[in-house]
Amino acid sequence: MDVPLGGDFIRSRIHADLAEGRVTKIITRFPPEPNGFLHIGHAKSICLNFSVAEEFGGRCNLRFDDTNPAKEDQAYIDAIREDVRWLGFEWAGEPVHASDYFETLYEWAEHLVETGHAYVDEQSAEEIRQTRGSLTEPGRPSPWRDRPAAESLDLLRRMRAGAFPPGACVLRARIDMASGNINMRDPVLYRILDHTHPRTGDAWCLYPTYDYAHGQSDAIEGVTHSLCTLEFADHRPLYDWLLERVPASTRPRQYEFARLDMTGTILSKRALTRLVQDSHVAGWDDPRMPTLRGLRRRGVPAAAVRDFVSRLAISKSAGRVEAALLDHCVREALNRSAERRMAVLRPLRVVIENYPESETEWLDAANNPGDPDAGSRKVPFSRELWIERDDFMEDPPRKFFRLAPGREVRLRYAYLLTCLEAIKDEHGEVVELRCRYDPETRGGTPDGRKVKATIHWVSAPHAGRARVRLYGPLFTCDDPAGLEDLNPNSLDVLEDCRLEPGLADLEPGRPVQFERLGYFTADPDGGFNRTVGLRDDWARIKVRAGG
Ligand code: ATP
Ligand code: MG
Repeated sequence: MDVPLGGDFIRSRIHADLAEGRVTKIITRFPPEPNGFLHIGHAKSICLNFSVAEEFGGRCNLRFDDTNPAKEDQAYIDAIREDVRWLGFEWAGEPVHASDYFETLYEWAEHLVETGHAYVDEQSAEEIRQTRGSLTEPGRPSPWRDRPAAESLDLLRRMRAGAFPPGACVLRARIDMASGNINMRDPVLYRILDHTHPRTGDAWCLYPTYDYAHGQSDAIEGVTHSLCTLEFADHRPLYDWLLERVPASTRPRQYEFARLDMTGTILSKRALTRLVQDSHVAGWDDPRMPTLRGLRRRGVPAAAVRDFVSRLAISKSAGRVEAALLDHCVREALNRSAERRMAVLRPLRVVIENYPESETEWLDAANNPGDPDAGSRKVPFSRELWIERDDFMEDPPRKFFRLAPGREVRLRYAYLLTCLEAIKDEHGEVVELRCRYDPETRGGTPDGRKVKATIHWVSAPHAGRARVRLYGPLFTCDDPAGLEDLNPNSLDVLEDCRLEPGLADLEPGRPVQFERLGYFTADPDGGFNRTVGLRDDWARIKVRAGG
């Protein structure tokens, strides 16, 4: 296999396991709980699991950890499949589900009871919590802890048969109530839940906990390297303890890596759910959301997400990644793929006094100056244009080189234009510029003439109109604690933008650069979303950090 030895500790580990014959085929899995939509943090786990399997010629399963029917939904399952595919990965065979294994998991639970490693506890959830102890105090054993195995087995079977209401009893592992690791203090393996499951319907009223289902599902699938985030490190002793005691024929190992944490956003499904439920955003796919659907709707290409994730360290130490790095990857991807167009976000009318009334010229405009293969298109030029309001100042400061009375600028792909006069309305607001153009300057600047600025424009009679949404950060600080840090100005909707012809028909998802303004994409509900601006903060951050 042609895999570099270095890389991260997980790939090194896999290398060693293969070299020393501990495993022959690498099997990984991505195990989402179908109780929400995937976010960019999940992308790190997806890329790691699928890429590792691919690099080492193995397989990666998509496994839904559907052990809590109270919170799960088929709609999430469908969305997760779609998002993983959008990211560019394909799972081995059909997606699998923890619920596919409910029968085996239950048989193995009976085995644990029969071998004295699990018992039915009739304490309430509250009693179990209170007797669990703390970091400084050991837990107290349940009065049911030493009941005969036969009695527990009988109760477990009756639990399965529906003889008890939720909360009446649970199945617990018999490990060590004095363990320094609270996860080892007789954790709950099964609880009774009165919920219809999206896949198994009403076949079960007994559901395994995450800790029990996860490792055993890994074993059933023959997963060799079960990759998860650091918060599961404390669960690893339990993962191993259970796998040593169930009659599984394979022995997976768990490895933990640091989760992705990013400045300026929150990557927790619970917090994201709040944003949606309390209508702080328009939905899971709101372009401000760090969800994969939000990013997609914003116009972020999957390749940029993969590139971003590939630059992240797979390590044991938690760290926060600058959101500017993701933007940088997005710009790199879009700079290559997005065609250039002209659009004016805040239009100001220009009338060219010396241009014939009813004439239209069709001028050549390059589709992507960095890519000659992208070709060119014709854009109409006429007596009345729209330019950006920001590109004119009546009384400009020294460093402002764009239009002002008496100033000359270049109109991109067209002519030099001089401003003669600004017309104002009764409130003193500039509503129109009267200008002259130089017919001799099409496609070039005459010798010795200094023109410092080039501005974009759109021919007024030919322009399309659109609503454009500009997005700012969803939170006001780098390290948001919660809803109190929400940025009230994260969305700026411009209702009256003008577009060069043809842009109005751009299909959603196709990226485009509006010259001088940023990268945009058409929204499925109409209008355009700005994906990212043109200014790259990542280089500045790297210089500051000395990187
Ligand atoms: P959340 O904390 O947002 O609720 P979760 O961990 O409960 O997420 P799961 O559906 O259980 O969500 O996650 C599926 C997989 O994705 C798990 O293996 C989990 O470790 C991983 N994962 C979740 N968040 C991140 C993250 N920020 N960075 C890397 N991996 C993550
Ligand atoms: Mg989880």
